[in-house]
Amino acid sequence: MSKNLTVCINSKNYGNALMVRTHTKNKDKAYECEECNMYYKDKTIAQNCEKWCKEHKSCNSNISRYEIKW
Ligand SMILES: [Zn+2]
Repeated sequence: MSKNLTVCINSKNYGNALMVRTHTKNKDKAYECEECNMYYKDKTIAQNCEKWCKEHKSCNSNISRYEIKW
């Protein structure tokens, strides 16, 4: 396990403007798109949603169908 590699990956993926918010409830985790406030189980999907929302100012049904109740 290389520490440098981890830092590099983190700064590449999370050092930009994608601010998905992490929520925890009991032992559950959900990720919120800060643009449309939908919740997802998967962080990658939440990031894709936020990216789409920022670029298109609308929701992508291919992403929003993964929305979960939170
Ligand atoms: Zn969104």
